This record gives sequence, C-alpha cells and structure tokens, in this order.
Amino acid sequence: MQLARRLMAVRAAVRELRADGSTIALVPTMGALHAGHLSLVARAREVADHVVASIFVNPTQFGEGEDFDSYPRTEEADRAKLERAGCALLWAPMPEEVYPADHATSIRVGGVTEGLCGDSRPGHFDGVATVVAKLFNQILPDYALFGEKDYQQLAVIRRMARDLDFQVGIIGVPTVREADGLALSSRNAYLSEDERARAVALPDALGETAAAIVGGAPVADAIIAAKAKLFEAGFATVDYIELRDAETLAPVGTLERPARLLAAARIGKTRLIDNIAVEPG
Ligand code: AMP
Repeated sequence: MQLARRLMAVRAAVRELRADGSTIALVPTMGALHAGHLSLVARAREVADHVVASIFVNPTQFGEGEDFDSYPRTEEADRAKLERAGCALLWAPMPEEVYPADHATSIRVGGVTEGLCGDSRPGHFDGVATVVAKLFNQILPDYALFGEKDYQQLAVIRRMARDLDFQVGIIGVPTVREADGLALSSRNAYLSEDERARAVALPDALGETAAAIVGGAPVADAIIAAKAKLFEAGFATVDYIELRDAETLAPVGTLERPARLLAAARIGKTRLIDNIAVEPG
C-alpha cells in the first residue's frame, strides 16, 4: 500500500493506478479504524479495481467544545489494517494541505441537513460536505463508499454529489455491529465498561420501536417509549429519536413508505448515533 501526505503525491499515485484504465473507489475515514470501516474497504474492492482510503480528522466538522482534540488517532494500526484489507493507496493529508490558512470556501447542503444532527451539531454537515467535495476533487474516484451508520451524512453526500454533478457513484454500506447490537464506532472507545454495557439500550430501543411502528403503534407514542427506555438505561440526554423518510429524510407521521428511525443520545460524555430501517409490512 502506498502512502501519500501531499496533494501532488496523491494525484501522481492515483494517475498511476488509473494508467491501465483501472477504476478507483474511495473510502473516506477519520481513522481509528474498526470492522465497520473495513467493510467499506471490502465492498469497495468489489466495485472497483483499486481502493483509495483517506484518513483525515477533519477540523471543520467538529463544533466548539466537541471532541476534535481527543478524537482517537491510531495511524500506525490503521495503516496495517488497510494494508491487510487490500487497500492500494492511503491518502493521509497534512492539515495545511487540506485547509491552507486563507481557505475561504465551504459547501452548504440544504434540505437533508435540516433537523437530526443538523440541529444538534450546527455547521457539522458544512464541514463534512466541504471535505468530501475536496476529497472527490483530489482523488476523482469512480465510486465513493459511506456507511449507513451515519445515515444523514450519506443522504447529504448523495444530495451534494447530485446537485454539484460530481461524477462519482455514491454507495451506502450497511452498519456493522458488535455481537450485542451496538454499532461499531470510533467513539465507542470513550465508553467506560459500565457505559458500554448500558449503550446497548440504543440499538435495543431502535429495534423495539421499529417493530412497534411496523406493528401499527402510533409513531409519537412509540418514540416516547423509546426515549423512556434510554433514560432508564442511564443515557444522560437524547438529542433526538425521529422517524424520517428513508430517501428524502422528511419527517414521517405514519408509515406508508420505507422509513428510517434515527437517534442520537449521550451516555456519560459520549454521544452515540444509530439508525434502523422501518418498512411497511
Ligand atoms: P468515520 O471515520 O467515523 O468518519 O467513518 C468513516 C466511514 O465509515 C463513514 O462512511 C461511516 O459511516 C463509516 N462507518 C462508521 N462506522 C460504521 C459501522 N459500524 N458500519 C459501517 N460503516 C461505518
């Protein structure tokens, strides 16, 4: 696996990979890699000839008081995992290569950024859209893969790619979970043993609520019950639990089309997100 830290170098490496007409799939990450990230790499290998992964803890998607400084950085272990997973090139740019001191451009996606994490993390999706647009222009991939774990983010990227005519196929990959159902996340490393045991209430509550809604329970009642379950399990706050249209992310009052139940909640100091499909039976 090649490693590039400079834009000139990554462009040269990508040109070389493409020289024989090969296709490229990009897997953007912030590192601290786990089996969820590696499932994106595995899927990427199925859709393209070469996989380029990026590791960049993107400062512009972290808000004031969020965990940018403490975000886990494990580059050496990440490199070994990507190499083993069959990644051809790792793009791990220097921060000043991504954001020169006088950078003054950002991308704001409307619609799908409204509500959910768009409300609880103001400016977050501007940072995500901007860095992903830059990654697309840096690598010019044929495909880019994103996890359904970050369902609203996936919707934001799809909308941006469509609206700005990026010639990139956006591919969503199902969430990889621990044996008890907790979605893998780099932030799970923040959880104490006790918090980790309690955190399973999040996927449990989503599963029970989805089943209740499919079974005909009123959406609002099912969501109130889910919040109660999370507080009972020891979650400190619930940023949101909402049923949204699976495609447009518009709020859903009654289940008529494929929907998605999305939640964000804090246990101790750790903010966890998760989501699950809810489809009319
Ligand atoms: P991150 O490093 O958290 O920015 O995540 C990089 C990519 O991995 C994003 O597209 C995430 O949605 C995806 N991802 C994170 N956790 C999981 C998971 N448990 N299963 C599948 N994809 C994931």
